[in-house]
Amino acid sequence: MDKAYAYKNKRSVVMRSSSGGAFWGIAEAFFEMGRGTCYGAKFDSDFKVVHGKAKKLEECLAFQGSKYVQSDMTNCFVEVKHDLKEGKNVLFTGTPCQVAAIKKYLSRNKIDDSGLYTVDIVCHGAPGPVVWHDYINYIQNKEHSKLIKFSFRYKPHGWKGYPIYAEFENGKKYINSIKVSSYQNMFRKNLLMRESCFNCPYPGNFQSDLTISDFWGVELCMPDVSTDGGVSLILSHTEKGANLTAVMKDTEEVTMVEVRGEGYKKYNHNLLYATERPDDYDKFWNDYKNKGLKYVLYRYGGENLKDTVVFYGKSILRKTGLADKVKKMMGRA
Ligand SMILES: Cc1cc2nc3c(=O)[nH]c(=O)nc-3n(C[C@H](O)[C@H](O)[C@H](O)COP(=O)(O)OP(=O)(O)OC[C@H]3O[C@@H](n4cnc5c(N)ncnc54)[C@H](O)[C@@H]3O)c2cc1C
Repeated sequence: MDKAYAYKNKRSVVMRSSSGGAFWGIAEAFFEMGRGTCYGAKFDSDFKVVHGKAKKLEECLAFQGSKYVQSDMTNCFVEVKHDLKEGKNVLFTGTPCQVAAIKKYLSRNKIDDSGLYTVDIVCHGAPGPVVWHDYINYIQNKEHSKLIKFSFRYKPHGWKGYPIYAEFENGKKYINSIKVSSYQNMFRKNLLMRESCFNCPYPGNFQSDLTISDFWGVELCMPDVSTDGGVSLILSHTEKGANLTAVMKDTEEVTMVEVRGEGYKKYNHNLLYATERPDDYDKFWNDYKNKGLKYVLYRYGGENLKDTVVFYGKSILRKTGLADKVKKMMGRA
């Protein structure tokens, strides 16, 4: 049976991570075990999302932070094969379908994968790159400047609200502004997913050694764990997973507590189920093809007056701590 852990890395790591810094903790454990390479998703200099390789822990910095775009892992297959053939250990991290793909590729090529360790993220669905590239061009043109930093989950402004951070070469910085949040708004409505994500076969059918996710519902399952900054859930499925988690320790700075029971499964839909296809999915894509990006940003992404008022209203409620009280009043906490 899987072992489950609530995990929170030290504060500096948590602030760079999407939830509790589980990925970093695992990468740290992996490099401590010896010679190896780690693969993960990063932005390239044009904000394309690609899978890259790290030869040491510090190079894994680029992999931290969720990028809500399907990463291009074309070059990875051959490189992973090469590393394993050279006798190195490999830590491959990515979506469940990417982990399954790399394992299938190695098996088809009859490569000994005893040095391969795999970590997948619980995945809502990864949008194809087309709308993302269109969007990057759109915000750069509007700003008349090149984008130099982008975060889908800017931690200093909270864990649960998915605030965006975008910085441009002209010095402009936008935090949680509708000007740079409309892609994210469409992602969170599940409109950008690839059709195949709605039939994803991997929830509950794990192919990896370890699975990591946001620990939604941690305050209910594990009331003693501080939620400040975010907490990750780690599921260990195999002996290799257990070897990695054995190196990760609960210390004064790092929280790692085994979760008893399976109550945590209730709070993370995509752990067990694929995302549902939204009713307006076909309409969205027809509108994108026929009317273009600007129209869908207005119609679905919140770049209109009514949604802008709601967007900033919600953000004020979150900042003042009133959001949780309102949810409780409405019986949704
Ligand atoms: C597209 C996507 C959908 C997600 N959906 C959910 C969800 O529904 N529920 C949930 O609990 N968690 C989801 N997550 C995972 C979550 O955001 C965190 O990755 C997880 O909480 C681990 O936390 P961390 O603090 O270790 O994160 P981080 O340190 O931020 O995690 C970094 C890890 O994420 C990987 N990663 C980042 N972007 C991508 C990408 N585009 N493709 C492949 N791998 C990527 C990196 O390779 C690295 O392994 C999703 C992540 C992505 C990228």
